[in-house]
Amino acid sequence: MKSDIRVCSAWRERHDRPVYSLGDRCPDCGAATENTAPAPFNPGDPYGEYRRALNRPGR
Ligand SMILES: [Zn+2]
Repeated sequence: MKSDIRVCSAWRERHDRPVYSLGDRCPDCGAATENTAPAPFNPGDPYGEYRRALNRPGR
C-alpha cells in the first residue's frame, strides 16, 4: 500500500521537525516533497520488544 503522506525533502536543513504535506511542495519553504512510508514503531531497535520478552523480570 502506498502512502499519500509526503514530507519536505529539506526539512532537516530548513525546519526543526518534518513538515508533512499532501502536495508536491512543502507548504512552508516550497521545497519538493518526497514520499514517506509509515514510520516503524521503533526503527532504532527493531528487536527491542523481542528482547524484552526474553528478559522478563521475575525469571
Ligand atoms: Zn520545507
